[in-house]
Amino acid sequence: MELWYIEEQTENIRFSVKVKRHFYTETSDFQQIDFFESYELGKFFSLDGIIMLTEKDEFVYHEMITHVALATNPSIKNVLVIGGGDGGTVRELTRYPHIEKIDMVEIDEMVVRTCKQFLPLTASKLDDERVTIYHEDGLKYIQGVRDAYDLIIVDSTDPIGPGEGLFTLLFYENCFKALKEDGILVNQHESPYYEKQAIEMRRAHQKIKKLFPISKVFQAHIPTYESGHWLFGFASKKYHPIDDFNKEKWESFKLKTKYYNPDLHLGCFALPTYVKEMLESC
Ligand code: SAM
Repeated sequence: MELWYIEEQTENIRFSVKVKRHFYTETSDFQQIDFFESYELGKFFSLDGIIMLTEKDEFVYHEMITHVALATNPSIKNVLVIGGGDGGTVRELTRYPHIEKIDMVEIDEMVVRTCKQFLPLTASKLDDERVTIYHEDGLKYIQGVRDAYDLIIVDSTDPIGPGEGLFTLLFYENCFKALKEDGILVNQHESPYYEKQAIEMRRAHQKIKKLFPISKVFQAHIPTYESGHWLFGFASKKYHPIDDFNKEKWESFKLKTKYYNPDLHLGCFALPTYVKEMLESC
């Protein structure tokens, strides 16, 4: 008998993966958590029936959500990650020895615990001495934080369930205040392809654009996310991701990456016409 994981990406589109086993299922205070072992994608986990990461393609998401900002301002020292309980974003950040402090605000302690147990390579740096984990709602945590971070990375779930508040104007306003005067905000920005996610993507951009003097969007190919075409937001008070791109300094760190590279840094901001039109009409 064959066992298939089936994800409803829209009402009319399903994505399926043949799995060897479904080895963990639990409902936390916030969401349903499931872990699977597959034939082609390695282990993967879903929250409320949506894939968060697979061992096969998580490097794309985690490298892109991290290195674009660090290559734009290589002096970043204090970082806040909101969400990101699997640890992949923290793992990439810890590769920079000059980063002094990484605060991670993950609402669901059970995500961190299970990822440490079942995805040890992704969660490998959550115990780094520079990392402090707060199990709190990111929306609440950031209220009242002022001028504290060089970089905020919003590594959240979609804007339904616990992630909803992380797509609001109030949240982005608080991120703006929590950033230092040259701070950068990077957020997972949904997919432009199917209407359901494209609406959320445009809403998020509309709000961020109002607040930050520099607000750009970049893309990556993440095969196991809806449509595979994924966007990230880059918003900043000072640094422009292309004009201020510091290729030489980033190369001097000698990090071995599997997806991100300096050519792609420039290329990922070149967007398809239909996406540009969506963003311009926001
Ligand atoms: N790469 C992923 C994606 O886009 O599919 C995101 C991964 S990460 C696992 C997302 C995390 O955000 C989840 O563990 C979830 O618990 C956390 N999260 C959702 N809403 C949150 C909130 N309001 N505050 C803090 N963390 C939140």
